[in-house]
Amino acid sequence: MSVTCGCRHRNSSPCTGTTTDVPRRTFARINIRHLQHNLQRVRDVAPASRIMACVKANGYGHGLLAVARALQPLVDGLAVATLEEAQALRDAGLSGRVLLLEGVHAEDDWKTASRLGLDVAITDSVQLEWLRAVALETPVQCWLKLDTGMHRLGVMPGELAGILETLHETAGATANVTLMTHFASADNENPAAATAQLARFLSCSEALALPLSSANSAAILSLPDSHLDWVRPGYMLYGGSPFAHVSAADCGLLPVMDFHSQVISVRDVAAGERVGYGGRWTATRPTRIATVAAGYGDGYPRHAPDGTPVLVSGKAAPLAGTVSMDMLTVDVTDLEHCRPGDPVILWGEGLPVDTIAHAAQTIGYELLAAMPARTPREISH
Ligand SMILES: *Cc1c(COP(=O)(O)O)cnc(C)c1O
Repeated sequence: MSVTCGCRHRNSSPCTGTTTDVPRRTFARINIRHLQHNLQRVRDVAPASRIMACVKANGYGHGLLAVARALQPLVDGLAVATLEEAQALRDAGLSGRVLLLEGVHAEDDWKTASRLGLDVAITDSVQLEWLRAVALETPVQCWLKLDTGMHRLGVMPGELAGILETLHETAGATANVTLMTHFASADNENPAAATAQLARFLSCSEALALPLSSANSAAILSLPDSHLDWVRPGYMLYGGSPFAHVSAADCGLLPVMDFHSQVISVRDVAAGERVGYGGRWTATRPTRIATVAAGYGDGYPRHAPDGTPVLVSGKAAPLAGTVSMDMLTVDVTDLEHCRPGDPVILWGEGLPVDTIAHAAQTIGYELLAAMPARTPREISH
């Protein structure tokens, strides 16, 4: 078979791409049962809301089609950021509701969205002008986004009444419009900000009798009043915590991605020797260094500092030295019998991606979304 998509599907239905049988021992195992568990968490926490599951950015790096296929039968819709992502879902035969979160970026995009049968967010009045200028065979279900304080996308509260009136007179839009907004505070550090945005959203929509949607993962878990008609979970579905100071486990979530690699070399270095590019790490004692077959070219963050935990044969050992493109080095002096071939977990079960992200001064969202195509996804059901 030939390579076209970079994912290996050992136990799953075939994907649109095919795969070689060349073994790769650095890979991301995608645990579909954990994805289903996390979805059930959303249902338990927000039982009265419909679920629009976010699968943008290649399913937060897990593989768009694998997660979309697993989620679609269990949710009310899938949300993507780009028309390409929506097209990929349709090409794969997924026919349920798909919401284009950012809306269209040009007049012609409305034709594509209509042909694909998408739900489309209107996030700027220019998109409505384009919709009025274009002739569509099938009208589109629109989600009108209100800017309640994030100031990135959405129409301003003062424009809402006029835009809704125009939208109702627009042939290219169906009559059933959903009103949405998005919270700026990605965690619960500043609950007052999200509460204020929610209050603004509710007061603007009070007299309108439209379905409402506001909650992302953080709001689903921490702001029950925000659940409304539709929740829009993303990160929590993949088993990450949207909060800086609450672990995913404490949120009742299970990691969907286990990032696997293996030790490919072990060596002794004397005290005073330096390890890796730039000699960032210096041995302060006679040290055993294990070299692992994964680097930033495989999705491990180059900014991870010395001491970041790596699981070698299930035991935590500290990263030692700058991460290379294809390799990283770990101080395994305190582990017994470390040998080439030993299994390594870079994040996942037993080592939350949030821990690695925190060490590398980023968020788990970025690490997952940045997982490159080179790292095969192994789907496990
Ligand atoms: C990505 C996204 C979400 C999901 O956010 P999470 O924090 O990953 O749950 C919800 N709504 C919109 C508009 C988004 O772009």
